[in-house]
Amino acid sequence: MKTLSLLILFFINITCKENTTVYICNSAGAKKYHYTSSCRGLSNCTYKIIKVDIEKAKKDGKTLCGWEK
Ligand SMILES: [Zn+2]
Repeated sequence: MKTLSLLILFFINITCKENTTVYICNSAGAKKYHYTSSCRGLSNCTYKIIKVDIEKAKKDGKTLCGWEK
């Protein structure tokens, strides 16, 4: 039974982590992060769109995209 609860906790952890993934434009000038890769703010991106952890995006000084407030 202990193994089962550990497994459940493990899967909850994975789900939570997925919720904190955001999309950013991989250019030096990009200052925003986005919840979806199809966001209007990302359509201007001429660089590669990459997935990063939201904490990393914030650490890099990025803020939530204006289209998603
Ligand atoms: Zn956006």
